[in-house]
Amino acid sequence: MVKLEKVEKYFNRYKSNQIHAINSTTLKFENTGLVAILGNSGSGKTTLLNVIGGLDKPDKGKIYIGDKKITNIRNSKLDKIRNLNVGYVFQNYYLLNHLTVFENVSLVLRMLGVKKKEEINERVNNVLKMVGMYPYKNRLSSMLSGGQKQRVAIARAIVKNPNIIIADEPTGNLDSKNSIEIMEILKTISKKKLVILV
Ligand code: ADP
Ligand code: MG
Repeated sequence: MVKLEKVEKYFNRYKSNQIHAINSTTLKFENTGLVAILGNSGSGKTTLLNVIGGLDKPDKGKIYIGDKKITNIRNSKLDKIRNLNVGYVFQNYYLLNHLTVFENVSLVLRMLGVKKKEEINERVNNVLKMVGMYPYKNRLSSMLSGGQKQRVAIARAIVKNPNIIIADEPTGNLDSKNSIEIMEILKTISKKKLVILV
């Protein structure tokens, strides 16, 4: 579950170019399901996702991930909650191009401190199969198409088995066929996890 209580976010606060990006927003998301956030360009969707995912901090209000409050806590604590609970998917994929598909995904587990090679292999291969990228596991990321890159990015987001996946316009750079396929993957994931989608 994710809960927001009267969240406010400003950019350039108290300056002449102040922007009130999130205005007293109260929201509750259940443990599973696909939730879409809609709005015009510049309406604050990315800002909202960023504060929910702990990538940015609100100026006021409270945010809970599960039963843990993530507002007004130490950065180290926030990083920990975020690492365990949230997987991110972005419009621009943000893969490391000089690494292979397998390496991009396994890096997450190694950063989380998973050391056993067999465990890493099993978990990475499983998520790559889920998104249909297992046959390409040894290919360099720079050699993939956009749709393939986004599949790998989804595998990377779910390999640590987070409760929440946050996806900011994940099909924004894809053609309609790939967009539909990516949405199907996110829909499948949302049966067991909360997927918040812009
Ligand atoms: P959306 O994702 O819905 O297009 P954003 O959340 O990116 O909207 O932006 C909401 C508003 O906040 C916009 O007016 C944008 O220009 C502004 N904004 C976003 N990020 C920043 C920032 N880092 N500094 C200043 N203004 C920002
Ligand atoms: Mg945006």
